[in-house]
Amino acid sequence: MAAIIDSHTHSNFSPDSSMTIKEALEAAEKIGLAGLAFTDHLDLKTPDGDMRFAFDPALQQREAILHRKNSKVDLLSGVEIGLQPGNLKETSEYLSNYQFDTIIASIHFVDGVDPYKGDYYLGLQKREAYGRYLELIYELTQLYQDFDILGHYDYISRYAPYKMRSLFYREFPDKFDAILSSLSQSGKSIEINTNTYRHRNGETPRLDLNIFKRYRELGGEFVSIGSDAHTSERIGEQFEYYLFQLKSCGFKYITHFKERKAVPVKL
Ligand SMILES: [Zn+2]
Ligand SMILES: [Zn+2]
Repeated sequence: MAAIIDSHTHSNFSPDSSMTIKEALEAAEKIGLAGLAFTDHLDLKTPDGDMRFAFDPALQQREAILHRKNSKVDLLSGVEIGLQPGNLKETSEYLSNYQFDTIIASIHFVDGVDPYKGDYYLGLQKREAYGRYLELIYELTQLYQDFDILGHYDYISRYAPYKMRSLFYREFPDKFDAILSSLSQSGKSIEINTNTYRHRNGETPRLDLNIFKRYRELGGEFVSIGSDAHTSERIGEQFEYYLFQLKSCGFKYITHFKERKAVPVKL
């Protein structure tokens, strides 16, 4: 994995991670990654009023500078922003004070509920629950465009209670086409987030390559890969397998972002 960067990791600047920057860098070096991006959580105005899902990028970046000197792998400074209809202006204002290598835009709340908590799915069929999530991705990424990578488009499948949990292109072709065309036209990247394809309860969600084949047909160029690691042993998890899969769809590059510019790395 010579020049591959893990584009999505959480250091202890995220409230749900205790991984230090040093531990993460050591793990990346050990498994032969070229580096990683620390993309800590910034979810402003969470429905439950949880203020912890924000961090001070100045502190994160100051610490990163110290580690960068001694690190054998690249250290990129990033943020994972959680988009909601009511926080776009605040998010933009917050970020305007800082510079990042990588901005991931993710959706963690659907109409005020985090699917992580399971209540979201109560009384909803898979079609409604997943369809609404995809609609929100489209709507919010039209309204908010200052990002590089669309994070975990399949987050909705991670904690779902359905027997068949994976999210397939064939179930929502129009919704996927809208998202994929938009990403492709604006030169943004879609993420393979390997945190989704882990065994939790029930069926382990799997990646539908038809989504990536269609993205390519629509002119999509940039795909990024991230472990979404909150612990050092998950850094770079399953990358070889998914990069191989991506290559089988005809993609020649995996892309990370440095100083907000796409850096394609040959597969
Ligand atoms: Zn996320
Ligand atoms: Zn994340």
